[in-house]
Order: sequence, then C-alpha cells, then structure tokens
Amino acid sequence: MRASSSTYAARIRRFRLPRLCIAVIGTEASSIVERAESLVRDNPFLEFRLDYLSQPAAGLPKLKNFLEMHPEATVIATCRRAVNGGKLRSSVAAQLNILLKAADSGFQLVDLELQSVKALKPEQLQELSDRVGLIISHHNFRNTKKLEDPFEEMSQYQADFYKVVSTATNLYDNVVMMKFLEANSGKHEMIGLCMGEQGIISRVLGVRAGSVFTFGAATRGEETAPGQATALELRDIYRIETVDAATQVYGVAGDPVEHSLSPVMMNAAFRRETVNAVYLALHAKSLKDLLACVRDIPIRGLSITMPYKQDIVEELENSDPPTRLVGACNTLVRSVDGKLYGFNTDMAGIVVPLEQRLPLAGARILLVGAGGVARAAAFGLKAKGAEVFITNRTTEKAQSLARQAKAKYLKRSEVAKQSFDVIINATPVGMGNGKQSPLEEKELNTKYVFDLVYVPAETRLIRMARAKGIHVIPGLEMFVQQGARQFEIWTGKPAPIAEMGYVVTKALERRAAEEAIESRKPSASKAARKATKSAKKASR
Ligand code: NAP
Repeated sequence: MRASSSTYAARIRRFRLPRLCIAVIGTEASSIVERAESLVRDNPFLEFRLDYLSQPAAGLPKLKNFLEMHPEATVIATCRRAVNGGKLRSSVAAQLNILLKAADSGFQLVDLELQSVKALKPEQLQELSDRVGLIISHHNFRNTKKLEDPFEEMSQYQADFYKVVSTATNLYDNVVMMKFLEANSGKHEMIGLCMGEQGIISRVLGVRAGSVFTFGAATRGEETAPGQATALELRDIYRIETVDAATQVYGVAGDPVEHSLSPVMMNAAFRRETVNAVYLALHAKSLKDLLACVRDIPIRGLSITMPYKQDIVEELENSDPPTRLVGACNTLVRSVDGKLYGFNTDMAGIVVPLEQRLPLAGARILLVGAGGVARAAAFGLKAKGAEVFITNRTTEKAQSLARQAKAKYLKRSEVAKQSFDVIINATPVGMGNGKQSPLEEKELNTKYVFDLVYVPAETRLIRMARAKGIHVIPGLEMFVQQGARQFEIWTGKPAPIAEMGYVVTKALERRAAEEAIESRKPSASKAARKATKSAKKASR
C-alpha cells in the first residue's frame, strides 16, 4: 500500500474488493453502460476498457452517470495504449488526460501500464494517484519469464496495486506466477495471473497465492485477454469466491482439453456434496510439464485423457487391477507424500450402465473398435463373463486385442449374419455432425446399442437403433459413470450421479443450441467445421 501522506482519493482497501473483476468493453459508452447495467447487480466490481471506445474522453459523461447511479460499484478505468497491448492509439499525455478525467468522473481505480508510468513526470503521476486509486500494470504477451524484473521497476513507484500479467506457454508457468505472488503479496497489494489457455490455474488459484482479485469476461466473445474465463465460469463452475488455502485441486489433463465437459460435471459434484475442491481443465502439452505441476501445486487428483492414458502408467507408484489389465490409467490420485496412484474408471463406465440393464454373464457383446476404450470394454466385459466379439477397421488390431482379452475376432462381413445382446460403438464414428454410423442398419441385430460417442447426444447409430426398436444407451452414461467413480475414489463419498448427468446434459444442449445459431450465420460451412472440431475435442 502507498505510504504517501498527501492522499486525496479514498484509498481502496483489498478487503473491500470482491475477488472477481469483470472487464466490460464496447465501442460506444452507451454499450458499455448497457452491459454494465446487466452485470452490476451480481458483480459490483467492474473494469471499463476505455481504450475500446471510439472516443474515450467523449464517452466519460455517460460513464460518470452510471457511476453516480451505482455507488455500490467499484470500477476500474483502463485505457491501455496499443503499444502495450490495448487499443488506444494516442500519446502517453493523452492517456493521462483521459485517466485524470476518469478520476473526476468517479472511477475509484485506474490502471496504468508501467511503460506509461515511466514516461510520466513524477508530479504527473502524483497528480493522478492523488485523485484516484492507482494500479500499475505490466503485461508480458510472450512468456512467464523474469517476473521480478518488471516488478522491481514498478515498485519504485507508489501505487495502490501492482498488477503483473504474463503468458503461460506451459502449465508450470502457473506455478511460477503463484510462487511470485506468494513471495511478494506479503509486502505489496498484488494482482497476478497468466494469460493464455494454459493460464487457467493461475486465474483460479492465483487468489489464494496472494492475488487480491482476478479478471473475468462478461460473456464468451467479450474476453479482453487470451484465455480469460467468463465471470459465470469463474463464479459458478470454479467458485472463485470460496477458493482458499484448504481448497483441494483436481483437474482433467490432456491435449487438447479446451472443450472438455469434465470441469462442468466434476465441479457440480463437488458443490453438491460440499467438498472444498476445485476441478480445472489442464492443457498439458507434455507429460513432464503436467507432472511438475502435479508436484508443485499440489494437485490431489486428475482425470487423465488423451494422449497420456498409457504414458502415465510408468509414473505410478501403484495401480488398480483394471489399470494393469488395460495398460491405461484415466484417474490419478496424488498422496500427501507426492506418490502417484492410478485407477481405470473407463472400465466401470462401460460395465455399470450395461449391468444395470442385463446380466453380463454369457451375454453376447460386439465391440466395434479396438482402441483404448474398446480395450477397457473387452477386459471389463470378459471379467463379467460376457462372450465378447471384436470387429475393427484395422483387422490386426482387432485380432491382437481379441487374443489378449480372450475375446473373438469377427470379420466385418460376418457382423450382419450374427445376433448379439449388445453392440458397443467404441470408435469416434458419428461424432460431431451425427451423420455417420459405424454400422449399417442390417448389421444391428441386437437387443441393446451402446454408443460411446456422446457429442451429439443423438448419433445416427442411436437414431437407427431406435427406429428398429432396439434399446439404446447413450455415451453420456459412460461419461457420467466413469466420472462418478473418479469422484468416489477422490472423496470417499457416493457421487451425486443425477446432478452430474443433469449438468452435462444441459451443457450439451447449450452447446448444440449455440452451434445451431452459428450454423445459421452466413459462414455456415465454417461454423459446421468448427462444431465438428469442438465435438471431437469434447469427446476426449
Ligand atoms: P482410439 O484409441 O483412438 O481408438 C479409436 C478406434 O476407432 C480404433 O479402433 C479405430 O480403428 C477406430 N476408428 C477410428 N476412426 C474410424 C473410422 N473412421 N471408421 C472406423 N473405425 C474407426 O480412441 P478411444 O480412446 O478408444 O476412443 C474411441 C471413442 O470412444 C472416442 O472417439 C469417443 O467417441 C468415445 N469415448 C467415449 C467416452 C465416454 O465417456 N462416453 C470416453 C472415451 C471415449 P483403427 O484401429 O483402424 O485405427
């Protein structure tokens, strides 16, 4: 905190501030006000990005009016210059002028980047900080290196808050940022986070490492920095206001994980069962990076997804029988002494929905596909006494899996001649646009079809099966069951399965609706490609 005696502005104290500040953008002051009006009741801490306005100074009277109407709001005025990553194409003098006017308009805080601070005369900076709370900021858009260097320069100047923002190029950068915050937040009021998709750890956990607050976007599409989560995500999914030193950290790790539905599902489960835990999407570009994070944060448990399910097995201290049988681990537990234990809940994800419907001993089950999930299914179903058949695009892979799991290989041309109790689609065919099916209608001689693809919820295979009067089991059931088992392994509590299924179904419906709106826009083909791509990612 500043030590100066000649302070005229009421100094903003950290304990007065919520943990989440929502950045509001608009090219016209009226659109900023409109957006702020819709947010302020639930989010009294806002940042107005004046540099997005076509005429920042001219917009201030309208913003002043908003501030007068909402004395409960705390609002930061930011007018970042283009050379420092903002949109203002004016001199530092013009920037200062706008921020002084913002102070006179009733903003409680202004954000000024270090580069501009350095260009000002001491008396100019003094004039600004006498009138309004000052955040001195520094943004590194390339990496998370040498955080101390800009901070050392910043701390030469008196300010209410020091904001250091970097770019995460790997997961460990979050650890670097949080260690930096821990080292400096005892002496200074700090704000710190990493931008970029890989920066989500610091955006959520930074507040417990000493960042006074963090930033969120008003909605998807209104982000003011790469990787910025929306306010709704930070508040409702990650429960940012309740994250504290005791909060246990879990996540889904893979490459990619951007569209994973696991955070929505698992955070809902933690909230429902009042477990003080947060579950993050960790985009790990290498296993080495992931393991370094697991050790340092420390992370209590992980859902492991592609492409690390097999590679992680070598890192395990011990594992459950399904992991050893399948040779793949999708669930990690880190003990307090840092040892890693592996579990495979994919197997339960396939077996449990089937067991709930039919006796598996002696059941004739056809697996289409011979990849990782088919492998879990083959071993899991054999262990339950089922008679398992495997067919696959690549014959050798099906034959090899059949040999290992003591199942039977079936030529594709033989499928239509046989009848089964269950057919399981363990390929990605049908994902995304829902127009393809791994099997033809005449091949569906079965009582049940279990399509492990769950984006979209209604695949072509599911529709064809329904039309033939076959019972269908949607892939969502596997997703929820494997997640439920993970929850139980991590917490020792029964999983709130109904809640988990509900939130994932709703999230899928929302996504489908958004994609339908996108596809009606003129560049429909581009949107369709995007939808297929995001569905592929979601299914990992
Ligand atoms: P994987 O290891 O990559 O295996 C994919 C399998 O699908 C391989 O056997 C592959 O055949 C086959 N395949 C791929 N493209 C094909 C095509 N165009 N036509 C015919 N066969 C094709 O993937 P995985 O991890 O086993 O996952 C398989 C699918 O399961 C995923 O795509 C996802 O939809 C679903 N899944 C669902 C859940 C859930 O919770 N519901 C969880 C995980 C996965 P080749 O051997 O010839 O390459």
